[in-house]
Amino acid sequence: MISIIDLNHSFKIGKKGNEKFIPVLKGLTFEVADGEIVSIVGKSGSGKSTLLHIMAGFLTPDNGVIQVNGIETSQFNEAESAEFRLKNYGFVFQNFQLMPGLNAFENVELPLKLKGVSKSMRRKKVGELMRQVGLSDVQDHYPNELSGGQQQRVSIARALVTDPPIIFADEPTGSLDSETEQDVLLLIQSLNKTRGITFVIITHDDEVANTADRVYKMHDGELSEGGLHNAI
Ligand code: ADP
Ligand code: MG
Repeated sequence: MISIIDLNHSFKIGKKGNEKFIPVLKGLTFEVADGEIVSIVGKSGSGKSTLLHIMAGFLTPDNGVIQVNGIETSQFNEAESAEFRLKNYGFVFQNFQLMPGLNAFENVELPLKLKGVSKSMRRKKVGELMRQVGLSDVQDHYPNELSGGQQQRVSIARALVTDPPIIFADEPTGSLDSETEQDVLLLIQSLNKTRGITFVIITHDDEVANTADRVYKMHDGELSEGGLHNAI
């Protein structure tokens, strides 16, 4: 589904005339298969978020190729990237990034509103999803009236509401205690099984990596495959 070929990226730091290039990604080549949960592990600062930003088209790599279902996304301009993202990707972040002025239902509904989906369709779709992620009872609560785990469920439902085939998650359980982390991981696994959604999960947490079908390890700007788990 996703093929990454010889991806390189450096960041320029320092003032003009005294710039230095820090190589962060050094020739990464790997694949994510349709319907897989892939996790990318590595220490803080090893380049995991940079890789995710590049895969999702927020950042243009110095060189290398990214193909998604045979489409070369690494050549997209900003507008093409944005359009492709809207259709194909959902995002889950460590700090949830919910809108504080909207309740749980409205947060999940927002992407559909932006897409111009009718009110009755939105009601139906969001209602179903709230049930699936176990939030029906608290759907009129605002983010500050929800626990961390509930907020992450809202953000997962929001990522799913437009039916993207791929979800990128950057440290999705990084702000949660270990019990809540398990809940969220089980939810991700069940969504992967029932809806066939492909997950790319960035993490420094072994517990998270253990739920993946495939684990890649980032080290010194290079990626190695750390083995297949949960192979069917
Ligand atoms: P991780 O997500 O694994 O913690 P990051 O991808 O955030 O790592 O960062 C990798 C390296 O790139 C770090 O050394 C970080 O300081 C550097 N870096 C990230 N973003 C930038 C940027 N915009 N400008 C300069 N350096 C950056
Ligand atoms: Mg990071």
